[in-house]
Amino acid sequence: MDGLMMDFPLNLNYILQRAHKLFPRKEIATKVGSAMHRYTYADFYERVNRLAHVLDSLGVGPGDRVGTFAWNTYRHLEAYFAIPCKGSVLHTLNIRLFPEQIVYIINHAADKVILVDQTLLPLLEKLAGRLPTVKHYIVMADGAYQTTLTPHSSYEQLLRDAPSGRYAWPEIPENQAAAMCYTSGTTGNPKGVLYSHRAIVLHSFSECMADSVGLTERDTVMPVVPMFHANAWGLPFSATMVGSRQVYPGPHLQPRDLAELIQEEKITVAAGVPTIWLGLYHLLERERYDISSLRVMPVGGSAAPRSMIEGYQKKLGATILHAWGMTEMTPIGTVSQLKSHMLSWPEDEQFAIRAKQGVMVPGVELRGVDNEGKEIPWDGQIMGELQVRGPWIIREYYHEPNSSASFMDGWFRTGDVVTIDPEGYIQIVDRTKDLVKSGGEWISTVDLENQIMGHPKVLEAAVIAVSHPKWQERPLACVVPKPDFKDHLTGEEILEYLRSRVARWWLPDDVVFIESVPKTSVGKFDKKVLRERFKNHILPDM
Ligand code: AMP
Repeated sequence: MDGLMMDFPLNLNYILQRAHKLFPRKEIATKVGSAMHRYTYADFYERVNRLAHVLDSLGVGPGDRVGTFAWNTYRHLEAYFAIPCKGSVLHTLNIRLFPEQIVYIINHAADKVILVDQTLLPLLEKLAGRLPTVKHYIVMADGAYQTTLTPHSSYEQLLRDAPSGRYAWPEIPENQAAAMCYTSGTTGNPKGVLYSHRAIVLHSFSECMADSVGLTERDTVMPVVPMFHANAWGLPFSATMVGSRQVYPGPHLQPRDLAELIQEEKITVAAGVPTIWLGLYHLLERERYDISSLRVMPVGGSAAPRSMIEGYQKKLGATILHAWGMTEMTPIGTVSQLKSHMLSWPEDEQFAIRAKQGVMVPGVELRGVDNEGKEIPWDGQIMGELQVRGPWIIREYYHEPNSSASFMDGWFRTGDVVTIDPEGYIQIVDRTKDLVKSGGEWISTVDLENQIMGHPKVLEAAVIAVSHPKWQERPLACVVPKPDFKDHLTGEEILEYLRSRVARWWLPDDVVFIESVPKTSVGKFDKKVLRERFKNHILPDM
């Protein structure tokens, strides 16, 4: 039709060129050993150009997949832009998956070249004989290295030898693939998610909105969430788009490393899964670090316990922003900001809202659907499966003939069970498969865990369903005491604590103490392992 707007492609080249023109002096810093590697957006741009030349010389063409097997570093950021901006596909490999899964993923995606961090060489070397599609390995090292991978080249050497001239960046249609990531599914093989340029750009816009994560040029952003986990929640893309200062922790993810980075680098936005921040919290309870630079800590991947949100706010003055998303959603779906009329609510009610996963961000639509396929009311009570749609949500899995069960009338079925309150805030009650189905009623393991983790003697807790002769399933609480209370915490204390906090029939039938909660490759509680371990657990008669 006449008189419409330009057909301007939303692609990552736009983000890259913008950053290069506007923020050449802005810093990107990475922790390397005990020092910091620092350079500017201008240096970054120069190296991104060189990397694109290098990939051409290795025969990487449009649409070819290039794997990265790496920590969060400036080199990984270079790959984040050079690969998609030259028309190829960035495939971030989850270094913490089982070897079998990594082999499956690389072969399924048919990666042509893999960029690998020197410290991760031993992991990849063991698999190399089973990766027929990989034609070249590029080793990202700070100095000399040795490897059995063949053929291989040094990233730094290749960059040094590459032409210094500007790369002729192609015009990329917005619906072309830019990146891919496999979901760490708990059953079956991992499934591939292919992100379009358009999806990533629109997601970046949304992520930078003030009521979302709200990144700005004035921020110093530290993605602690791995760059192989849903593009570090899109932060490297959105931070580059708005020209934030960026800090990458490399492999240094211990609480003390993070506390030092926040203090020394004056981080304003630090993002990661709850496990990371629980660990940091316990350090900060004992030792003093100045974390006052923090403006917001986006937390997602699994439920942020209310006690943690409250603890950070009241004891440390740091604001946790609870968000929910999925690899299939680029990944942000909801963010829990208070609406203006809630600012005068009693503190207790405000924390109750902030502990929910929040409202849909602009660009995402959501609904809850019950067992009969009917939409659930927004009453904060009735549970249903969360379904979503929007421009950065997958339409199908990559080369997966049987993905139709994950979709319903154009909506993506998340597999998460939620309630939605009258204000539109969702609360993740559970994964469908983790719910305890007790006598036809559902018990939320997430809710129980969050309550138990509020007990002052508890470090971590996971609740699982175990079979029960009368009720089909009943909850079992697996609790890790804080080190100081290792042998000084009883199951009865946990139950007593819960009695005033949850419905009587929700009370776990038993409490067991464990050394630690097993974690998945991206730091979530791995309840599959606990279910296996306690599958024959005999519950006491209650
Ligand atoms: P992944 O794609 O690995 O990030 O996993 C996505 C899943 O993580 C979601 O379907 C949820 O089950 C879970 N998840 C993500 N964020 C949250 C959150 N804030 N609270 C509870 N569960 C979450």
